[in-house]
Amino acid sequence: MSDQPVRAAFDWLQAHEQQDRDRLAKLVAIPSVSSDPASAEAVREAVEWVAAELRRIGFADVTVYETPLHPAVTARLASPIAGAPTVLVYGHVDVQPVEPVAEWASPPFTVTERDAKLFGRGVTDDKGQLLMHLRSVEALLATAGGPPVNLVVLVDAEEEIGSPSLPALLADNPWLGEVDLVVVSDSPMLGINMPAVGYSLRGLVYAEVTVSALAGDLHSGQFGGAVPNAAAVLAELVAGLHDADGRVAVEGFYDDAAAADDAERAMLADLPFDERTWLDGIGARCGTGEAGYSALERTWIRPTLEVNGIVSGHTGPGPKTIVPARATAKLSMRLIADQDPHRVGQRVVDHLMGSAPESVDITADYAVSSRAVSTPRDHPSTAVAAEALAAAFGRTAYLIRDGGTIPAVALLQSAFGLDTLLLGLGCPDENKHAPNEWLPLDHFRLGPRALVLLWHGLGGGLR
Ligand SMILES: [Zn+2]
Repeated sequence: MSDQPVRAAFDWLQAHEQQDRDRLAKLVAIPSVSSDPASAEAVREAVEWVAAELRRIGFADVTVYETPLHPAVTARLASPIAGAPTVLVYGHVDVQPVEPVAEWASPPFTVTERDAKLFGRGVTDDKGQLLMHLRSVEALLATAGGPPVNLVVLVDAEEEIGSPSLPALLADNPWLGEVDLVVVSDSPMLGINMPAVGYSLRGLVYAEVTVSALAGDLHSGQFGGAVPNAAAVLAELVAGLHDADGRVAVEGFYDDAAAADDAERAMLADLPFDERTWLDGIGARCGTGEAGYSALERTWIRPTLEVNGIVSGHTGPGPKTIVPARATAKLSMRLIADQDPHRVGQRVVDHLMGSAPESVDITADYAVSSRAVSTPRDHPSTAVAAEALAAAFGRTAYLIRDGGTIPAVALLQSAFGLDTLLLGLGCPDENKHAPNEWLPLDHFRLGPRALVLLWHGLGGGLR
C-alpha cells in the first residue's frame, strides 16, 4: 500500500471536519429514544436521516426495513478493487433515555463542546461512532474512488432495547451473511487516546420481581408493625442476592461460567489501568464485588448481577406515612462464556420465588437479551486493527474485553457464523446511558483515520 491514498483521505477528513460536526449535531438533535413509545416518530426520523446520508455519500441499495417496532437500514458499497473482501459495518441510531435531565450540564440533544470533549446523548453510543464509519468511507470515495473493501452497512434502531427485530431482519436478508467480517464501533477504548481492540462482550439477561403484600397502601400508625411491608420484604430479597464475599448467591449462577485463564489474567493485569483513578473519575469511594478478582476482571471476565432500580411506596417530596402494598425491583445479569442466558434467568427467578416469606405474593420474570460472545484473540483482523489504531492515534493499541453487550454481535454469529472485530472508539468513563455522555474531540478526529487505515489493512490482507 502506498501512503498517498491514506494521506489524501486524512487531508479530506481534516478539511471537512466542520461539515462532519454539523452532521453529528443534526443526528444527535433527533431524540431517538427507542424504549419510549412516545419517541417512535423520532426513531423513524433518525433512521430516515441515516438512509438519506448513506444515499448522499454514494451507497447503493439503501433500504429501510420495516419491523413491528422500529425500522432498520441496510446498504452496500462496492469497492473499486476487484476481488476485495467484504466487511459488514453494524451500528445503531437509537439512544437511551436522557433522564434525569437536570443533571445534564448542557441540553442532552444539543452537541456541546467543553474541555476538548463533545457532549450530547448518542455522541459516542452510537451515533458518533457510526458516523465515523460513514466519514471514513466518504473520504475514500472522494479521494480514491472508494474503499479497498466492499462494504455492507446495517443500521439498527432497537439496539438499546435488545434488537428484538434483528433475528427476523437477518432471516429475511441472507445476503448480509455473505461477508468476510463484521466490524462494530460501539464500545470504549482503554481511555482517552488509549486505543484498543476488543475481543469479547458479556451477555445480558433482565429480570423483574414484584412483591405484593396488601390490597392497597395502609396508614402506618394504624397498621404499621402488624402487617407485611412490601418495600422491606423486597429490600431483604434484593440484599440476599449477594453473599458477604460479593458473590451472587443464586444457586447454580456460576455453574457454566468459563473459568478465567491465567495467561489472560496476566495480560489484563499488565494493562495500563489504574483502579484508583477509575474510581475517582466516577465518584466512587472504593471498588466492590466478587472477592479474588480485580476491577477489570469483575467487569470483563466474571458474570455479575446488578439491581437497576427499586420502586415502592412514597417517593415524592415530604413525608407520607404509609405501609407500601407493592414493591418492584429491576435486575440485570451480565454473563460470560458458556452461560446459557435462559438457564441463568430461570435460576434467578427460582431463587427469588423461593426466598420470599409466606406473608406476601411474589411474581418474577426474566427476558434474554444476548449470550456472551468473543472473537479469537489471534483472529487476523485483530492485528490489522491494532496496527491501524496505533498509526492513527500514535500510541500502542491494547487488546481488551468489554463488559457490555451488543446483541447484534451474537445474532450475526449464530445466524451466519460471522466473527466480529470490536473496534470501539469511545472511552470507559464516557457516561454512556447516563447524563453528560461525551466523546473526546481527538477520537472524533482520529477515529475515521483509524478506519481509513483499517479498510486499507483489511483490503490487503483479510483473505
Ligand atoms: Zn450502543
